[in-house]
This record gives sequence, structure tokens and C-alpha cells, in this order.
Amino acid sequence: MDTIFTKIIKREIPAYIIYEDDLVMAFLDISQTTKGHTLVITKNEYKDIFEVPSDVFMHLFKIVQKVSFAVRKAFNPIGLNLLNNNHEIAGQTVFHYHVHIIPRYIKDDITIKLPNHMNDVSKDEFELIKEKIIAELS
Ligand code: AMP
Repeated sequence: MDTIFTKIIKREIPAYIIYEDDLVMAFLDISQTTKGHTLVITKNEYKDIFEVPSDVFMHLFKIVQKVSFAVRKAFNPIGLNLLNNNHEIAGQTVFHYHVHIIPRYIKDDITIKLPNHMNDVSKDEFELIKEKIIAELS
């Protein structure tokens, strides 16, 4: 079954479309968390970051930057968050790859607070974590 975003691509349901090319589309997020909140999505139904081919991924982020500049010019926010949720546990609700562009106007207009567990992780653990990721990079 098509995702809700594929239905937007196919013009089966309406959306406020900002940009479209062969690989990606950008449209206003219906929730408008802040004014100008925009989604940039892949045209193909990749579920999450782990399914997106790297050439599509690179192109998508080029467009994320292009749209971010446009949003900044249009509304002059003070800051801007990029957000990409992967999997239900990370808050993903639509399982079709997308990046949120969320302009920020007022302190705490949304709350994204990352807990700090720095003091719970020993230097040895930091080293082990680092080495484990490096080992998987190649
Ligand atoms: P996420 O929770 O990261 O998967 O984000 C999904 C986003 O899709 C939410 O912010 C929704 O508000 C947005 N959304 C869902 N349906 C639509 C729609 N029909 N048009 C625009 N945005 C939508």
C-alpha cells in the first residue's frame, strides 16, 4: 500500500508543494510545528536512512539546504532544526524517508532536549564505543 507521502507525490491527496524533481519533493508539514515547517522526502518509498541509496541521500540533503535557505529568506527565523526520525522508537510515524526543516523563532518554541549522560560513561567506555564504530566504517 502506498504511504501517505506517495499519495502526495501522485497528487491523490493535497499538499502545499514547494519543490519537486526526479528524486525528491518538499512540501509543508501539515502540523506546522513552527511557521514554514517543511518536509523533504525521497520520491521512492525508502523506509528509513538505512534504505536510501547514497546518491539519493546526497541529493536530498542538497535540496534540504536549498529549501532551508529559502525558508530563512522567506521568514527570517533566528535558527533552524533539521530532524530525521528513523524507526518508531525514534519517533518516526510515517515510514517513508523524510527530513524535517523546522525554523526556530522563539526560545523553547519546541523542546528538543538531549539528556547528558557524560558522567555515566568512563574514558575506557568512550574509547571502546569509538573503536567499535571506527571498525565498522570501512
Ligand atoms: P515523523 O513523525 O518524523 O515520521 O514525521 C511525519 C510528519 O509527517 C509529521 O510531522 C506529520 O505532521 C507529517 N504529515 C503527516 N501527514 C501529512 C500530510 N498529509 N501532509 C503533510 N504532512 C504530513
